[in-house]
Amino acid sequence: MIRCVNVEKSYRTGGVATPALRGINLSFEEPGYYGIMGASGSGKSTLLHLLAALDQPDRGEVWVSGKRVDQMDERALTRFRRREIGLVFQQFNLIPTMTARENVELPGVLAGESAAWMRARSAELLDALGLASRAAHRPEALSGGEQQRVAIARALLFSPQVLLADEPTGNLDSASSETLWTLLGELAQTRSMTIVLVTHEPAAAAHCRRVDILHDGRVIGRIDTEGLDASGLAAEYQRLGRTA
Ligand code: ADP
Repeated sequence: MIRCVNVEKSYRTGGVATPALRGINLSFEEPGYYGIMGASGSGKSTLLHLLAALDQPDRGEVWVSGKRVDQMDERALTRFRRREIGLVFQQFNLIPTMTARENVELPGVLAGESAAWMRARSAELLDALGLASRAAHRPEALSGGEQQRVAIARALLFSPQVLLADEPTGNLDSASSETLWTLLGELAQTRSMTIVLVTHEPAAAAHCRRVDILHDGRVIGRIDTEGLDASGLAAEYQRLGRTA
């Protein structure tokens, strides 16, 4: 499903290179709910951008859904980004003048899909995410948690096998965050998706099946969360950080 082989990435500003990823080897072979955890600046967002083919590595290979995404031409990239991967960020990025339903259907409009197909898809997704009664509301009339669920419904319009979520609860209160972390786990299971949650919060990562720990651009360990709660995960995370 997802595989990184010796992935390196630096940013160059004013002739100075800042290494962000220093040889990442990672794989998520089976559908499931996976976490990537690390402190601020450890390279999490950079890694997610490479998985989403929004940026290219300097070296190494990035494979998603059986395709090598770091070597795609523009046409393949457009298709991949639109149809094969879903992205959710801390900011919900909804269009304020559009209803929830219109926001969910927007990628379909841009891709020239039929109105009937979009209407059926958006109805199914809004219902699955507990938003059926909110379909005609604009974002301003929705809670933060509801807005993020609209963003997830939009990301799922084309039924991608992979959903990448970068600190999706950064703007939510703790109760809405818990709901969202649980919901992502349910989606991974019921839709047989690979969902990758990037977070710095043990409470979020504890919902995942497995968590890879990033530190200073390297994977320093992997935590199997079976039987671990948030505080158990936090302790294991700190232990790995001390030995890095
Ligand atoms: P995280 O998501 O874990 O906070 P990032 O992937 O954003 O980490 O950043 C990893 C490293 O790369 C940091 O040292 C950061 O300062 C640097 N970095 C990230 N984006 C840029 C950029 N656009 N230009 C220069 N340096 C960057």
